[in-house]
Amino acid sequence: MLIIECPFCGPRNETEFHYGGQAHVAYPEDPYALSDKEWAEYLFYRENPKGEYAERWSHSAGCRKWFNAIRDTRTYEISATYKAGESRPTSTSAGA
Ligand SMILES: [Zn+2]
Repeated sequence: MLIIECPFCGPRNETEFHYGGQAHVAYPEDPYALSDKEWAEYLFYRENPKGEYAERWSHSAGCRKWFNAIRDTRTYEISATYKAGESRPTSTSAGA
């Protein structure tokens, strides 16, 4: 069982949360200026790192708010959670 710390509610069981994909994917400034390929890359292409990954999560069975988490894709360890709109914290693990 994974314990995830909601930045609004504190630590809760993973079953209260819903995964929302990669964090910090910025909406294009001018979507009409993009080619179909660039638009498809914005919609569908995501990083797939081995190690720390910034993700969006929703506390869907709690406060229902979205927030970001830094999760290691090798160990599932979440090293930080922070509110949506806040900048990504600097790396907290020495091995990544
Ligand atoms: Zn919450």
